[in-house]
Amino acid sequence: MHRRVFHKADGRKLYLFGTKPHTLSPLPEGEGAPEAKPHLRWHPLREEWIVYAAHRQERAFLPPPEFCPLCPTRPGGFPTEIPFADFEIAVFENRFPSLHPRAPVPPELCVPTARGQGICEVVVYTPEHIGSLGSLPQERRELLVRVWIDRYRELYAHDFIKYVMPFENRGEEVGVTLHHPHGQIYTYPFVPPIPEKEAVAFRERPVLEELFARCGDAYTVCEEEGFVAFVPPFARYPYEVWVAPRRRVPGPWEFTELEIKAFARLLGEAVARYDRLFDRPFPYVMVLHAAPKGEEGTFHFHVEFYPPMRAPGKLKFLAGTELGAGTMVMDALPEVTAARLREVKL
Ligand SMILES: [Zn+2]
Repeated sequence: MHRRVFHKADGRKLYLFGTKPHTLSPLPEGEGAPEAKPHLRWHPLREEWIVYAAHRQERAFLPPPEFCPLCPTRPGGFPTEIPFADFEIAVFENRFPSLHPRAPVPPELCVPTARGQGICEVVVYTPEHIGSLGSLPQERRELLVRVWIDRYRELYAHDFIKYVMPFENRGEEVGVTLHHPHGQIYTYPFVPPIPEKEAVAFRERPVLEELFARCGDAYTVCEEEGFVAFVPPFARYPYEVWVAPRRRVPGPWEFTELEIKAFARLLGEAVARYDRLFDRPFPYVMVLHAAPKGEEGTFHFHVEFYPPMRAPGKLKFLAGTELGAGTMVMDALPEVTAARLREVKL
């Protein structure tokens, strides 16, 4: 994999990753990013941090395709976030980050506060405006896995970063403001509540390996050498799918070459199955769960997809029991949705 680091005029870094070296000359850039001043406030009952990033209000909301900020810049055209006429995969620091490496000293308030220190990146999977993880060529998906590995390594090397989380929000149903195929990476100066709970569980037992041994094939959607995509028997969303290696690895940075290929194929197949399920691009939130810093000895890497759809045209909303009690109530059984996804014809 080749990597070029380019410094944008406003100081943000842009990385161009490819199977071939990137040598194009830069084109004119647009307006610089506004100043980010995020901070954290402590929620004393939930005992968790809330991030305040007031500058994010100004971000682009569903711009028309000719003004997509994630497309390559056309010579003589309007300047996008990527001032080059072509690229394979581009990663750049978010223009409207929720956390910032040079976040200022937080305000003094009646509750504990902290600096909103972190790095937020945007990962553009392809220069093509239309597409998905399911429709990308296998070679590009493998490159994406290598990009995630590069970002995990470099971001975890910062002392102030305790957790690195690549994810993708897809579809207007989950609030996506840009349709161009892309994901994001958030890094946190603390281990957030969900990976923290997972890390505690993995410290006690090899939860996923036990699950694979006990559950057999009833929950399997599809498989690849050493990896499985499955609906967990305790799914919290009707078509929730997890993709995981069968052997315990803390994160993709420990994948072998063969595992990078198998993981890329399986991620693509999982999304392709979603898209055939109701014959429409399936909205979801996809999150990579790798080991928080210090948990590498016991954590089992996996990807979780949370799709908000329960039937064609019907969304699952989080309401009283989910928001008030934190208890999900499901009307679809995981063994039934697993069979539906398994039976989809690709
Ligand atoms: Zn685009």
